[in-house]
Amino acid sequence: MVLLYIKGVEEKEKQNFQHTVDLYGRQLKVTEEQNEDTEMTLSFSSSRDQTRGTLYAEEAELSYTYYPSAAFTQEAPDSKEIKRRKLHVTVQLLNKWFHTEQPWGLLTGMRPTKLWHQWHQGGAGPEDIKHWLLEDYIVTPEKAELLTSIALKQQEVLPDIYELSKGVSIYIGIPFCPTKCAYCTFPAYAMNGRNGSVVTFLEGLHYEMEETGRWLKENNVPVDTIYFGGGTPTSITAEEMDALYSHMYEVIPDIENIREITVEAGRPDTITPEKLDVLKKWNIDRISINPQSFTNETLKAIGRHHSVEETIDKYKLAKVHGMNNINMDLIIGLPNEGMEEMAHSLAETEKLLPESVTVHTLSFKKASEMTRQKNKYKVAEPAEVEQMMNLSSQWMADHSYEPYYLYRQKNILGNLENVGYSFKGKESLYNIIIMEELQTIIGLGCGAASKWVDPETGRISRFANPKDPISYIQSYGEYTVKKLDTLSGLFPASQKA
Ligand code: SF4
Repeated sequence: MVLLYIKGVEEKEKQNFQHTVDLYGRQLKVTEEQNEDTEMTLSFSSSRDQTRGTLYAEEAELSYTYYPSAAFTQEAPDSKEIKRRKLHVTVQLLNKWFHTEQPWGLLTGMRPTKLWHQWHQGGAGPEDIKHWLLEDYIVTPEKAELLTSIALKQQEVLPDIYELSKGVSIYIGIPFCPTKCAYCTFPAYAMNGRNGSVVTFLEGLHYEMEETGRWLKENNVPVDTIYFGGGTPTSITAEEMDALYSHMYEVIPDIENIREITVEAGRPDTITPEKLDVLKKWNIDRISINPQSFTNETLKAIGRHHSVEETIDKYKLAKVHGMNNINMDLIIGLPNEGMEEMAHSLAETEKLLPESVTVHTLSFKKASEMTRQKNKYKVAEPAEVEQMMNLSSQWMADHSYEPYYLYRQKNILGNLENVGYSFKGKESLYNIIIMEELQTIIGLGCGAASKWVDPETGRISRFANPKDPISYIQSYGEYTVKKLDTLSGLFPASQKA
């Protein structure tokens, strides 16, 4: 552990600096005091249009002066701007010191595209934004290009992107899976296990859907997209799915005109011809069938309990049953996987060419089995993870897939990102809406997080349903009342027809 003393950084800001220096993976610990154990020291001096930083370490000294773009110069820079500048200088100096670069520079948040849209709504054009990303946020040219192309694609796919807050989307969480994958922290309980029965859970879900539908109708609030996630929503039986969608058609207003309904059928081992017929019967627009990897040993190591062959068979079966917008998820950096396995997964994907492919980079989520038993899982080094990412993005471009949404996570390998690619016109609208926080998402079912986006102020707050089925079953009535109250506050009676 190397102690890094950063002069003039307040206690409440320390976390940001620690988070940034953690990206270098060098075990640097930001300290508040300078003492004989301090091995590196960083100091700053700032004026209206420049911030200078000096790094002292191992009897050497490195300096850097940052001249912000005009949009970031202020007569008297406020504390937020000063912090950004200090972080800028810190990243530049550490890049130099360790002879490396951070692909996302200062952008450590989950939604870099959201920042792009905010700047754009503030009047900045794509060229200004690209300049700021490169110069003021030290994002690499590749990532700046990726971000720009995604934001422009989102504007094309959702022409009313900045007016969506007048409507809502609905997320429906079905918390069951055949087995739990090692990297997963979603609510994914065994069917009919000790965690409450599917039948009683579904009773709660039908109730929530009905009450929410009634409120939407009475308040004349339009629904743009519906997304069934989980868990695996196709874990329940074909009859249960049929009853659920039938009820959805009955109670959700104007459902024929909803822009998109997605059902994750992520685990191939849950898919049957009967369930595919139900999905088709109710005009489900988009499903996911997720290989994650096309190497059987990897699937075994991560506890997927299905084979590569089953993924391929179920994909073909879904096509035969008329599903014409299928997404496949791949994960970069799964245990024991490197360039060879990634190339193999892409070669297998090439034989299927699903309408969209979402490329995730493995992240070690706090509560996952993989994080708890980290030593058991050997994952690729950051340089190889980056090579895999480059291979996949080149492969996507070569096969006419275009990136349309992006998000980042904490503890993501190589400090990289997750990117959704699709053929033109096959983008998931829900994925864009949730990532860019464009409108309220009403969460129904287990673990479903409602996200309230105030149509007037844009202010965002959250409310989560209980994660486990037993707590959900005990309290869905009470939770429904709270959510409808919040909705009534967000969408006042003036909207009523
Ligand atoms: S199938 Fe999906 S939700 Fe279920 S355990 Fe695996 S990753 Fe989690």
